[in-house]
This record gives sequence, structure tokens and C-alpha cells, in this order.
Amino acid sequence: MRLRRGRGGVAPNQPAGPSPVDDSTEGGEARTALAAYGLGVRFGEVVALDDVTLEVAPGELVAVSGPSGAGKSTLLSSLAGALDPAAGVTGRVVVAGSPVRPCDAREATVALGVSVVPQGNGLATVLTATENVLVPLLEAGVRAPEAIERTREALAAVGLEDSGDHLVEELSGGQQQRVAVARALAARPRILLADEPTSELDHANRELVLALLSELAAQGAAVVMATHDLEAAAGATRHVVLDEGRATSEA
Ligand code: ADP
Repeated sequence: MRLRRGRGGVAPNQPAGPSPVDDSTEGGEARTALAAYGLGVRFGEVVALDDVTLEVAPGELVAVSGPSGAGKSTLLSSLAGALDPAAGVTGRVVVAGSPVRPCDAREATVALGVSVVPQGNGLATVLTATENVLVPLLEAGVRAPEAIERTREALAAVGLEDSGDHLVEELSGGQQQRVAVARALAARPRILLADEPTSELDHANRELVLALLSELAAQGAAVVMATHDLEAAAGATRHVVLDEGRATSEA
């Protein structure tokens, strides 16, 4: 099934007010922050994604839900250029107007402004929370004083201002998840792909993280969040449901 933003359409959960992107003229692809066109992904006999077309505009927070094994992580990995190279892929991924390979293209998507909150968080457990946020900024060429300030701000935003010196392995699962969110936010991404970013969080922290993702989208980023949590999905500007690799509906 093909899911495109309707012409000037207001998705069911979209707040009132002007669309962040004018869809009313041709050339919508150029204004799309992130897109998959006819994306199919197979792992041997397993069809993980089947002809999925999805366009995400700057300013949107799109929730992708569906049962375990529906293809949510595969979709996010494809959009991040981080798909397992063993996969068989058909279709296209376009990020910030540039075609990108779904596999082996993480460097390219980082350069295009994509940040990821991966499932399992992807943190270096023997580094501190601060180091996990700071090091990628320094690697990306952010000057040290700014990187330090951005790290401090991002950890404070997720309520971990007092935990920066703790090794990640000393933190709870929920705290680790919030460090992963802080690391992604500190990069100030144009595009954020978050895979179950609230799965380990209590109610208050779940609300906090969802508010941060909404705020990032309101600032003009395109945000895609895979989630099992239908309440979280209801807070998104759009909700795509995957089932056995097919985008079956837009709730
Ligand atoms: P979800 O995130 O919705 O739980 P996934 O995208 O992780 O679903 O998985 C979709 C399907 O693809 C599942 O059947 C899963 O077992 C399979 N799959 C995902 N990644 C791989 C992989 N690297 N190798 C083999 N099969 C995979």
C-alpha cells in the first residue's frame, strides 16, 4: 500500500493550523525530508517490508506501529541507511532530496542530518552518559565548548543533569534509553528515526520524551518513531500501521 501525504491533507491526528510544508504545487518529492518508494526488504524467504511507500515532510512526527515482526525496525533501518547488508532490497530511499542506499550508507545519512535512537540504545556501556553524548558531537566536528554545552543541555532535557558522570552500565534501562534520546537530540538532527524510544520508560519520562520529539518536529525536523504504544502513537501528527511488512492503514 502506498501512503503519501494528501494534497494539503490534514491527517487524523494533525493539529489545526498551517501544514509545515506546502503540498499544493508539484515537486513534492523535493520538499519531502524523508521517503521510501516501493520499498521491499527480504531476508531469505522472510518478507520484512512489502512495497512500502511513505513520505515524511519537515515538521511531521510520524508514528509507525504494528505487531512484533511487522517490519518497523526494518523500515527505520532502511531509512537510516543501516539495514543488514544480507537483505534483498527493492525500491528507493530518499533522504533530504538525495537517494541513499538502504544498506551501508550510515555515513551518508549522518551527513544528511539523520540521527537515530536505535532499539537497544546503542550506547557504549563502559563510557559515561556524558561521554556517550559528547563523543559523537566531537567526531562530527562540533567545537569542544559548544559540544560540552549541547551535551549538558540534552542530558538536562531528558532529566539526567545529575547523571552525566555515571557509567552507562550503572544506569537503569530507562535512564540508558534517555541517554540515547539525549545523544540523538544533541546532534540537532533534521531527521530523527527513533525505534521504540519509550519502551523502557515510566509514565512521566515517556511523556517527557514524547514532548521532546514533538518539539523537535515543531522546530522543523522530520521525526519517525516506531512504537508498540498506541497512546504514544496517538500523539503523533500521523500514524502508519505496518502488518507483515505492508503499510496497511493510516490510523
Ligand atoms: P518489528 O520491528 O516490527 O518487530 P522487524 O523489522 O524487526 O519487525 O522484523 C521484520 C521481519 O524481518 C521479522 O520476521 C524478522 O525476523 C525479520 N528480520 C529482521 N531483521 C532481520 C535480519 N537481520 N535477518 C533476518 N531476518 C530479519
